Amino acid sequence: MSKIIIINTGGTIAMAVDQESDAVKPQGNQPLHHVTPHLEKFGEIVMEDFLNLPSPHMTPELMFSLSQRIQHHISDDSVAGIVITHGTDTLEETAYLLDLVISSTKPVVVTGAMRSSNELGADGPINLVHSVRVAALPDSAERGVLVVFNDEIHAARYVTKTHTSNVATFQSPQHGPIGLISKKSIQYMEAQLPRKHMDIQKISVNIPLIKVVTGMKVEWLSFLLESDIDGVVIEAFGAGNIPPSIVPIVRALCEQQKPVVLVSRCFNGYVQDLYGYDGGGHQLGQMGVIFSNGLNGQKARIKLMVACETTRDLNKLREIFD
Ligand code: ASP
Repeated sequence: MSKIIIINTGGTIAMAVDQESDAVKPQGNQPLHHVTPHLEKFGEIVMEDFLNLPSPHMTPELMFSLSQRIQHHISDDSVAGIVITHGTDTLEETAYLLDLVISSTKPVVVTGAMRSSNELGADGPINLVHSVRVAALPDSAERGVLVVFNDEIHAARYVTKTHTSNVATFQSPQHGPIGLISKKSIQYMEAQLPRKHMDIQKISVNIPLIKVVTGMKVEWLSFLLESDIDGVVIEAFGAGNIPPSIVPIVRALCEQQKPVVLVSRCFNGYVQDLYGYDGGGHQLGQMGVIFSNGLNGQKARIKLMVACETTRDLNKLREIFD
């Protein structure tokens, strides 16, 4: 029987509605332990409480500690796969960081819930059962970190939270789920994908994410030149354009040899060096801005943080984003 380690980190899946205040809150005793008997027919289950945090309290440092805990378990030959339970608000960031740094082909699955443990139609228990089934399946290996939610399997690199309350919140724009889960089977719709991991010893770089808006004032961003940042990710308009007012900031950061990574505010399509006007992608490309495609802003930031722990060479960073 496959041995599956479940590592709990908190989130709604570990919370309940407090009847007095009618607010969803973390619980002293982790409700997920009550689900364990339903999991035992799929494998030998070991459940570990690593954190009990709402996921807005998550940090890249905690995500990295979690990756080390996973690495410890996954190196044990008797372990077939790992399941992480996590709050949904920042689940995609943790899942993607794990995808970038974990060195193993064994399945690592991240899941959570939109409804807390004592709400009608709670989705946590079924998401956990499905995650254990996916983690125990040999065909789930060599697919990178997986996000299992609402009968679907998504790749950590594509998935994002799209709805504040719907149980079908996790979607992969431009891609769709890579697998489907039914009562009796788990079906992958694509071949396994080789994945390159990045070896890092810590995560301590300081990288903000900036979303551009119309009428942006240069003074809103002057902190970027004054504080000790290691780089920045900018969520630009459309195909990769920014307001002309903030071009001097981007130019100064490029001159300081700090990586400036550009993604789009649109969740479909490409950013590229297309437009030749002031603030257009062509001008930004000439300055040395790095274009990132296929990742939203929050995930491009995680990637830049991990990449900056491996190199500060701008050409190497550009290759990592290519
Ligand atoms: N706010 C919660 C969290 O991310 C939402 C959830 O888990 O669904 O911790």
